[in-house]
Amino acid sequence: MTVKFEDLAGTPLTEKDIVDGKVFSIHDQMNAYFAWDTGIAIGRYLAGLYEGMIIGAHCHNCQLTVVPPRTVCEWCFRPMDHFVPLKDTGRINTYSLCYVTWDVQRIKTPEIPAVIEIDGASPMHGIMHKLGEVDPEKIHIDMKVQAVWLPAEERQGAITDICYFKPIEEE
Ligand SMILES: [Zn+2]
Repeated sequence: MTVKFEDLAGTPLTEKDIVDGKVFSIHDQMNAYFAWDTGIAIGRYLAGLYEGMIIGAHCHNCQLTVVPPRTVCEWCFRPMDHFVPLKDTGRINTYSLCYVTWDVQRIKTPEIPAVIEIDGASPMHGIMHKLGEVDPEKIHIDMKVQAVWLPAEERQGAITDICYFKPIEEE
């Protein structure tokens, strides 16, 4: 048995009927506020960024200092609850020159994501951020860099409280 369109009950609607106001409709914009718990270690890390400080965690058993901080040592599985302030300087571990944006638009001035080994953390422990105030041709592995912070009144307790890392002179 074939059901014809005309046999169906109800009144078919088109988008035009709604736009033209032929049917009652309400336009609503979702306004969903939500919050989540960052956890003890990342919570302390974000609070540190708000204060203009990079916080790591130290394991007394392994003598390792990691950044970002975590609550359990990945090597010995013991609690890692000793938070330590680190410097806001470090060295470039690796980097990339990106000539496309997140939505695949070509750009002439590259975005430069990098892994920065933070001074005070154990070797090979660092954070991902981006580089700025730098000639892309002059960047090299192990280059000394320092965080450029947002002004205190603009910080929000987020990784974006650091604008980027810029090269500095060797001490
Ligand atoms: Zn450990």
